[in-house]
Amino acid sequence: MPATDLDTIVSLAKRRGFVYPSAEIYGGFANTYDYGPLGVELKRNIRSEWWKAMVQERDDVVGVDAALISNPRVWVASGHVANFTDPLVDCRTCKLRFRMDHIEEGQYEEIQRQEDGSYRCPRGKCDFTEPREFNMMFKTQVGPVANEESVAFLPPETAQGIFINFENVLNSTRKKLPFGIAQTRVSFRNEITPGKFIFRTLEFEQMEMEYFCLPGTDRELHRYWIDERMRWYIDRVGISPERLREREHTADELSHYSAGTSDIEYLFPWGWGELEGVANRTDFDLKAHAAESGHELTYYDEDSGQHVVPYVIEPAAGLTRTVAVAMLEAYTEEPDEKGDNRIVLKFKPAIAPIKVAVLPLSKKPDLQGASKRVSDLLRPHYMTQYDETQSIGRRYRRQDEIGTPLCVTIDFETLEDDAVTIRERDTQEQIRVPIANVVDAVRDKLGF
Ligand code: ATP
Repeated sequence: MPATDLDTIVSLAKRRGFVYPSAEIYGGFANTYDYGPLGVELKRNIRSEWWKAMVQERDDVVGVDAALISNPRVWVASGHVANFTDPLVDCRTCKLRFRMDHIEEGQYEEIQRQEDGSYRCPRGKCDFTEPREFNMMFKTQVGPVANEESVAFLPPETAQGIFINFENVLNSTRKKLPFGIAQTRVSFRNEITPGKFIFRTLEFEQMEMEYFCLPGTDRELHRYWIDERMRWYIDRVGISPERLREREHTADELSHYSAGTSDIEYLFPWGWGELEGVANRTDFDLKAHAAESGHELTYYDEDSGQHVVPYVIEPAAGLTRTVAVAMLEAYTEEPDEKGDNRIVLKFKPAIAPIKVAVLPLSKKPDLQGASKRVSDLLRPHYMTQYDETQSIGRRYRRQDEIGTPLCVTIDFETLEDDAVTIRERDTQEQIRVPIANVVDAVRDKLGF
């Protein structure tokens, strides 16, 4: 069973060093989190599983890493300067700001609709302004003079860094359609909705791929990518299929560039929520950048002998949102060997922050020496944690709680037979292997 409430994960995340509220010593900062020693590994591993599936294991997708701050005309062409807005209302009494669409959807428990159609918050005196469109891009200034011309934007998505490099990639790789360009990067949005942990933050990481194809093949490829991405969450992140669903956008929900979008949603403790959007962006972006830059962004199709503007299918996933889902999904409470409750994060080994823990039974120097030898053998291959504090039972619990698939224990017998015990996280089964074979045995169990 996954975690049934978010607080359980929020407190485990902080206690064990996955995710901390940012700038906590200064009272925190709304919708902002820092990743700790284990969170940084989990995030890195999920990103790497995405890159493997989307780039490394395919012949038709290549990667880029575009600058974060770039020419502001990019965001004029993409439509973000004009359209990347949320309707906001301010309460003149509480001085708080809310998203009108979220008020109407009933997302703020404290704001209820009145009989006359108006809305009131618990203080009872909500005096809302008319909704006004609020652009969610962060602005900054570039260069020595601060004026309108020096304004630049922090990117709210990674896609535009791909579109502006379409021609460069085409020329340098000679790829034929269909082909994709992938990128993982941080994005920024001035979100005002009170966040649910790392589900919605001001700064977050995305994993996006733009798949360029001939017009007319887009519908079939849209379907293909929805299925591929669904499979990735199940096979690579370990999400149970019954907590994943596909939801097609209604006509009034569609973005200005989209001819069809399906969200991949996860059943969060508070209900279904988006994990990834898979959109058919048509030829909107390449045409928009061609018009703004005066640069022809086309592809020469040898079969038809014509220059065409490719269509684009975009699977756009949230890396940091997937980190939250991986933790929620892996969380398990079950009896241990003695029948006591144990908490286990049942991560797939590939995404587990620590792959193997090395645990000497005691702090005796002889055991420490042997344990150091075992660590030295494992470290070049796997993220390894050495832990000699507290009882062995407590150390197993600690490794279970951070999702370490294997523990290697060094005991007094080791000094005689030069062998160690490997314990599996999920089955709690133990096998004995010679130290000389420890790397092979771990590889055998992890599968990589
Ligand atoms: P939402 O409706 O939840 O605001 P969106 O439809 O605006 O999301 P997209 O623009 O499609 O999101 O971005 C693709 C993915 O990026 C989302 O599915 C989500 O996983 C992630 N994402 C978007 N905004 C945030 C955020 N503020 N914090 C964390 N992840 C985000």
